[in-house]
Amino acid sequence: MAGDIFQSFGRATPAARHAIPAEDAIALLKSGAAKDGSLLGYGNGRSYGDTCQNQAGSVVDMRPLNRVRAFNAETGVLEADAGVLLCDIIAHAAPHGFFPAVVPGTQFVTLGGAIANDVHGKNHHRRGTFGCHVE
Ligand SMILES: Cc1cc2nc3c(=O)[nH]c(=O)nc-3n(C[C@H](O)[C@H](O)[C@H](O)COP(=O)(O)OP(=O)(O)OC[C@H]3O[C@@H](n4cnc5c(N)ncnc54)[C@H](O)[C@@H]3O)c2cc1C
Repeated sequence: MAGDIFQSFGRATPAARHAIPAEDAIALLKSGAAKDGSLLGYGNGRSYGDTCQNQAGSVVDMRPLNRVRAFNAETGVLEADAGVLLCDIIAHAAPHGFFPAVVPGTQFVTLGGAIANDVHGKNHHRRGTFGCHVE
């Protein structure tokens, strides 16, 4: 996003000042021009450590990919882009009586970030991690 800096929540290392749009990253990967380790997905920067930072290459801003693609109001199964925020998933599902089975201590994480770090909630001992509920 314009004017953004791409920091981690714990400000672990200096923030990236630029991010590559996802479509440009895909083009680089398809053309074979992307070197190993040169691209790293950036969710919403809510990691405490440096997992969303890439001193050796570029971060790829996933947040513009933020569409809820489908929602089954009978089963609660939701299909969405990786950049959708958890708060938007909750806003989408709650009016139908559904809530994510596992949530971390902030709703300002992306779906991709929650999956990549396989986040847990206070109900870890009963419901496992976020990934236990991803098809
Ligand atoms: C106040 C607070 C409370 C928290 N509470 C908890 C908690 O209770 N339990 C818990 O487990 N965590 C907790 N966290 C940590 C947070 O849930 C995780 O760090 C989460 O992964 C952050 O998601 P993000 O979308 O901000 O991703 P980022 O921090 O931007 O990235 C996290 C990782 O995901 C990767 N990634 C992001 N998007 C994609 C994508 N589309 N494709 C591939 N890889 C991607 C990044 O490369 C990086 O490795 C908390 C954080 C905060 C700030």
